[in-house]
Amino acid sequence: MPSKQGKKIPKDDVLEFVVRDILRQRSVDTQKELAELANRRFAASGSSFRVSPARARLAALGIGAKIVIRTRKGEAPKRCPGCGHRLAKTFMRNLKGRDAVYAMRCPRCGYEGRLGHWLPSRYGFGRL
Ligand SMILES: [Zn+2]
Repeated sequence: MPSKQGKKIPKDDVLEFVVRDILRQRSVDTQKELAELANRRFAASGSSFRVSPARARLAALGIGAKIVIRTRKGEAPKRCPGCGHRLAKTFMRNLKGRDAVYAMRCPRCGYEGRLGHWLPSRYGFGRL
């Protein structure tokens, strides 16, 4: 590829290939680290591709990698904060006898929040 100035965005299949290669060798603790590893590989192969942490995470999701999401306190999301899929809710009866959301999980990417801890604070990726 002729070198041009500026960053380029890799296509999904290119990025997924690189992310699969990374996760076959090791697990990764954060999406930021996953993006850095991917960007280092692009740089090493002489390409000017760059990806964001969120994009790297979506590529991991695309290849079916196991994603572990840590959560912290915050407002309940309408859809999965990890991938935008609809969330499955579990209810429990509270002290006033009303049904309250106890937990929400995403059937697609493995996000799970419970008891007010709804916001993702860290995405981890299991080795393939
Ligand atoms: Zn999700």
